[in-house]
Amino acid sequence: MLAITLKPGIANSAQVTEVPPPDIADGPVLVRTLALGVCGTDRDILGGLYGSAPSGAEKLILGHESLGAVVEAPSGCGFAPGDRIVGIVRRPDPLPCPACAVGEWDMCSTELYTERGIKGRHGYGAELFRIEPTFAVRIPDALGHLGVLVEPASIVAKAWDHIGRIGARSRSCRPRTLLVTGAGPIGLLAALFGAQRQLDLHVFDRTPGGLKRDLVHALGGTYHSGSLTDLEVSADIIIECTGAVPVMVEMVAHSAANAIMCLLGLPHGASERTYDVAALGRTMVLRNQVLVGTVNANRSHYEAAVAALAKAPRDWLARLITRRVPLSQWQDAVEHRFGDIKNLVIFAGDREGPPASRS
Ligand code: BGC
Repeated sequence: MLAITLKPGIANSAQVTEVPPPDIADGPVLVRTLALGVCGTDRDILGGLYGSAPSGAEKLILGHESLGAVVEAPSGCGFAPGDRIVGIVRRPDPLPCPACAVGEWDMCSTELYTERGIKGRHGYGAELFRIEPTFAVRIPDALGHLGVLVEPASIVAKAWDHIGRIGARSRSCRPRTLLVTGAGPIGLLAALFGAQRQLDLHVFDRTPGGLKRDLVHALGGTYHSGSLTDLEVSADIIIECTGAVPVMVEMVAHSAANAIMCLLGLPHGASERTYDVAALGRTMVLRNQVLVGTVNANRSHYEAAVAALAKAPRDWLARLITRRVPLSQWQDAVEHRFGDIKNLVIFAGDREGPPASRS
């Protein structure tokens, strides 16, 4: 079978190659891949900046944003041939640590976890993969290719879960205004979840307008570009999805008293910028503010993601998909063009018709 493979740590080493059938050790459920989403983490891995192969292997099969159809499943496991599934990314550490022991592998405290397609485990970017039933999430057929958004939506669902838990520290917590920085897939999904919570939604992105602005307007939100400094918004919740240091610094000026600021974007490299930590400390203490980072997702977040996507307008979700390319042109999905939101690699097992090079 064909798979997107690469040598972790070596930039531009990826290619589509013939690999052996999936290892039964990956799980008893055999799945035919339909679509694979590409994100910033994949680009980092492809650039040699991140990722590791399974122990003893030289290469890693890429891919963690999956959508597949079950081909074979043991009877009584909860899945049957034809079911559409998404694979959970992280696997618990082998100890397991207290978090992994209760199914909260997203909070793994030893960092000995593995991640499919990212850290020490082959990913879903192959024509077939195997998975354990406990790490497969059923996707309603009605979502079609949009099921591939479940993994990025699970990241957002975790952020909202933690924001809700932090908000519960006060009996009077009634957030009204949400500021999302960054209108990539994570930012737009965070905005969707905010709209579903009836918050006054503001999204900031460097892209001046076009599709991203239209998608925010369709959610009933306000779209801002240009300078974040000029924004006249005082937000109860800020979800930072750019990982850009100037944006991270500037967002604090738009936080209300008791605000929860949640970091989802991963900054790269070192920052040369100086920052007044005393001023940050003062504002956070005197205004009961919380700055929190979150990564990954556990099963409850995947289930919340499926529920949120199922009640979202299909046409809105479909507009998040800016490019669909066949496996032979996978590099085209990886190339990030200005205005791109989510690009997909479509696999041959797809039954939704021939892949379009653009949609
Ligand atoms: C994935 C997460 C993963 C993180 C760090 C993200 O792109 O969506 O599941 O934990 O990268 O590896």
